[in-house]
Amino acid sequence: MTEPSSPIQLQFAAPRRGKPPRHFADLTKLERIAVLAELGEKPFRATQLATHYFSHLSCDPAAMTDLPAADREALVDRFFPPLLTAARVMRADGGTTVKTLWHLFDSAKVESVLMRYPDRATLCVSSQAGCGMACPFCATGQLGLTRNLSTAEIIEQVRFASRSLADGELPGGPTRLSNLVFMGMGEPLANYRAVIETLRLLVAAPPDGLGMSARNITVSTVGLVPAMDRLATEGIPVTLALSLHAPDDKLRSEIVPINTRWSVAEALDAAHRYFAVTGRRVSIEYALIRDMNDHGWRADLLAEELVKRGRGWVHVNPIPLNPTPGSKWTASEPHVEAEFVARLRAHGIPTTIRDTRGRDIDGACGQLAAEEDE
Ligand code: SAH
Repeated sequence: MTEPSSPIQLQFAAPRRGKPPRHFADLTKLERIAVLAELGEKPFRATQLATHYFSHLSCDPAAMTDLPAADREALVDRFFPPLLTAARVMRADGGTTVKTLWHLFDSAKVESVLMRYPDRATLCVSSQAGCGMACPFCATGQLGLTRNLSTAEIIEQVRFASRSLADGELPGGPTRLSNLVFMGMGEPLANYRAVIETLRLLVAAPPDGLGMSARNITVSTVGLVPAMDRLATEGIPVTLALSLHAPDDKLRSEIVPINTRWSVAEALDAAHRYFAVTGRRVSIEYALIRDMNDHGWRADLLAEELVKRGRGWVHVNPIPLNPTPGSKWTASEPHVEAEFVARLRAHGIPTTIRDTRGRDIDGACGQLAAEEDE
């Protein structure tokens, strides 16, 4: 067999290591009932446990007063192994941005970032420890891939954030988690199965899931075309974000190496198909890197590439590059950014600058590297 040759070593499969313990959120209803049977418990306990976990965001045996006191510990031990340990919590923006460094069962590390705004609260989750996509401007891309996260390892990031919002730990009083973005560490579509199962649990009504709105969930991808097409068929109309960063293959292959496998045209066609199937407007992510991809002609070319596929199907989210340690690249000058945005808008492309919350705690897009300072 011949493999397409690529100068960059892209990693898709996680190295074989121990898998995280199976958790309630990893099990189907039937599997939960089978485990309950092993423990000598009745099937209806599955709904009680789901209510504690998804509706009340709790795995605390003391709170499970509808379960026999003598059985609670055993049930919790079996169904809710601790998967995430908060190793470090950093706050910025007056406490409305909170970055948490999590240690996983095997000492792999990931981060998540919670951002509270006046009208919403958004969590940025990780779907992999590290990332195999090797984008040179992204801190996570420099780490390589450690492994895929399990469904429960992703859901637990969401549960902890929802819990802290419900408990009023962020300024502004108790609130709910309204938005979720898969823009933390990892390429979500390279961990397809776990991410889809996570999406199903996020949108399922309590007690089967967390009851979030699919339209408030964004899955961000480098452009894994077959997985984008598959996502469109799942019946979960999440928002898809495509990390384009350049409208021409020559430059994009340099800054988003997967472009050597799926080109700009192929990725944009898949993004457009996603819109056609789901009716969800796609976001194009574009990190503005000084003198690299921020030229006026590139804004025009980007707009042309989008408009030739139709109107009203897409909007562009430029973000000034968040510089990462050791990188020679930096953010575009403000007037260059303004010109880039103006040109897109002149072509009729809805364009919104993405904010860079958490920059000073290395919690902004592309800065997550899960380092611990000793
Ligand atoms: N693997 C997914 C999710 C990654 S992070 C993806 O690539 O889409 C989410 C966004 O942050 C992506 O658009 C990514 O390209 C962008 N990003 C990465 N590094 C960045 C940086 N240093 N500054 C600004 N954005 C960055």
